[in-house]
Formats: sequence, structure tokens, C-alpha cells
Amino acid sequence: MNTTTQPLITIAIDGYSSSGKSSMARQLAKTIGYRYIDSGAMYRAVTLYAMQHNMISDDLAIDEQSLIAALPEIDIDFQVDGERQYTLLNGVNVESDIRSMAVSNRVSPVSAIPAVRHALVKMQQQMGQQKGIVMDGRDIGTTVFPDAEMKVFVNASAQTRAQRRLSELIEKGVATTYEEVLSNVINRDHIDETRAESPLRKADDAIALDNSTMSIEEQNQWLLNLYNDTIANL
Ligand code: C5P
Repeated sequence: MNTTTQPLITIAIDGYSSSGKSSMARQLAKTIGYRYIDSGAMYRAVTLYAMQHNMISDDLAIDEQSLIAALPEIDIDFQVDGERQYTLLNGVNVESDIRSMAVSNRVSPVSAIPAVRHALVKMQQQMGQQKGIVMDGRDIGTTVFPDAEMKVFVNASAQTRAQRRLSELIEKGVATTYEEVLSNVINRDHIDETRAESPLRKADDAIALDNSTMSIEEQNQWLLNLYNDTIANL
């Protein structure tokens, strides 16, 4: 809950896979009392649903028709538990399942399906109706909230991002290698940047941040400073 008298705004944080945007976005939301939404978790949840219902074959072909028909039955929500936030797929906590490499390897082709994007963008816009929200993703500043008062586009070298992601996955007990994570990061970026429907792209009015050499504390402070400047200049 926003406890200050500051006006509520919409904050869009986009960028490349594993650029640290989710951690920054979550921390900013906590500091300023905003709601945080991880839009990538929503695409991951749809992908998990498709996998659970055998809509993705071993060679990664997607049964698009069945998935599109099932979209009205897919309910995605977030549950806050103290410091942590869990993704719920039809009421079930899938937070750990959606972070698996199996989901990471399938999520970008699923996210490229226009009907999937339309459904999730609509849900995201509803979540942001009241403002006071920080949302991170790939198309938040360009498509979901083109009028957001604050937009950031985060990048870091692919090697830095793969190393960060690998550390996170190891901490969570996921068995993988640096090479596998690097290839996943590069592959996802390529699909995300080249898809026809709302590709990964910096909005013209977004502020670019390359955080390759910044500590987490420096990134958080940079983002908080930008928020304070934005509010001061409304
Ligand atoms: O943010 P995260 O890396 O968890 O996102 C997983 C995938 O979901 C991305 O690689 C991208 O394919 C898709 N995505 C998207 N649009 C968003 C957020 C995520 O297409 N707004």
C-alpha cells in the first residue's frame, strides 16, 4: 500500500532475459509501496499449462489451436507471502515449476503466439488500472502501458546475464550448466526480438540502463533516484 502522499504512477521495466530487471523492479515496488507484477511469470505459467496438457511435443511443436481454445480456462494470479511472491496457475502455486529449464526452453515460442499475447496483455492492463504498479517484461513500455510515466530498458552482456541466471538456478537446486543457460538466454532473446507481435524493443521514451558492472545496491539506488526524479517532474 502506498503510504505517502505522492501521486501514483505506472512503472514499466523491460529488458533482456536475466538482466536483473525483476529483482530491481521487485525492490523498487517494495520501497515505494507499489504492487509488483512479473509479466514473464505469466508467460511461463501459460507455457507450463500447455506442457501439462500435452500441447507441446518433444520437438517443441506447439498445438496452437488447442492452446488458444484453452486460454479462457487459464487463470493466473499472484500470492504475496511476506517477502515472497508466488505465481498461481488455476489456484495452484507453480512458482518453482515455471522457473525450470524445461519451461525456459519453451516459453519464447509460446509467447510469440499473438492470441496468447492478447490475452495476457489484457490481464496486465486490468492489473494496472489503478496505477501504483511496477511491471517488468519485454513489451510493458511499448504495448501494455505505452503511457507509463516511468519506463526503463535494462540490458547487460549475454555472458553476465547467463552467469547471474546460473547462480540463481544453482541456488534453487536446478541442475544445469553455464553453456546451457547461455544458449537459452541467447535463443530467447533472438525469438523475443524477432517475433512479429510486440517484439522486445526499447520504447522511444524509455531510459536505457546497462547494469553489467553495477552491484545490486547500485542498480536499486539508480532506479529509486529515477523514480524520485520522475515524481518531482510530473
Ligand atoms: O522475464 P522472463 O525471462 O521470466 O520471461 C520469460 C519469457 O516470457 C521471455 O523470454 C519472453 O519470451 C516472454 N515474455 C514476453 N513478454 C513479456 C514478458 C515475458 O514475451 N512481457
